[in-house]
Amino acid sequence: MLLEEKTCVVTGASRGIGRGIAEELGRAGGDVVVNYHTSEAAAHEVVDSIEESGANAIAVQGNVAEMEEMEAMSETTRRAFGPAEVVVNNAGITADQTFEKMTAEEWNSVVGVNLGGVFNCTQAYFEDVCDADEGRVINVSSMVGLKGNYGQANYAAAKSGLFGLTRTLALEMARSGSTVNCIAPGFTKTDMLEKVPGDVQESILDQIPLNRFAAPEDIAGLVRYLAGSRSSYMTGQILPITGGMEW
Ligand code: NDP
Repeated sequence: MLLEEKTCVVTGASRGIGRGIAEELGRAGGDVVVNYHTSEAAAHEVVDSIEESGANAIAVQGNVAEMEEMEAMSETTRRAFGPAEVVVNNAGITADQTFEKMTAEEWNSVVGVNLGGVFNCTQAYFEDVCDADEGRVINVSSMVGLKGNYGQANYAAAKSGLFGLTRTLALEMARSGSTVNCIAPGFTKTDMLEKVPGDVQESILDQIPLNRFAAPEDIAGLVRYLAGSRSSYMTGQILPITGGMEW
């Protein structure tokens, strides 16, 4: 199996894209840490589904915006499965507002989770990934980080910030043989997209050449490739996966 018994951590894996990624890494044979923040029951469902596919998984509560909680999660990971080899920084939130009306709270919370969370989680697992034979950090950004989006200054800034973080980490981790890459999905059918009004969803759909929103499984397939050996010469890359939508 591609990831046989490799320890894989996925943040924000209780729902949506993170759930799809966690299940895909489980199907590839990984031992999966299913991180969640508030959706405990959903995270346990993901663990059950991974175990049904024949792999090992545990659910671990932790807010990515809090460094101590990420450190505690990395200790739990080591006790359960040993040091992490693959870290997928997926957890994310939105708090949309035009810049003129955006509050400091809306700015800080979105930047704190989407960008600060990647700092905290990667710090907590940094030595583990560097020590791994084929360490992997995979950051989940967004097409919005590439092109900006009306009402999402906070989210776009955080998601663009991941590009610089990815490229720099790739340089700093290359010596250890580990790779660091970033994916930039287009609009994907999850609870996050459900928050977008129906008429806006229709107009987005018109701009997607493949004429459908991504499913979490579409995104998970790319993450599986980046997590495995076959991507070992690819690092520091930003990979859009948008159904052909222009960015
Ligand atoms: P969802 O809203 O469906 O799920 C978000 C996940 O992140 C949940 O598992 C949630 O956990 C978790 N999460 C939120 N805040 C925290 C936190 N502070 N600490 C730990 N976990 C947290 O989002 P998506 O699946 O749509 O998005 C996943 C990622 O993909 C995000 O980074 C998003 O920005 C990105 N993305 C999404 C796109 C889309 O169209 N959907 C497009 C491009 C990128 P819980 O439920 O337990 O609180």
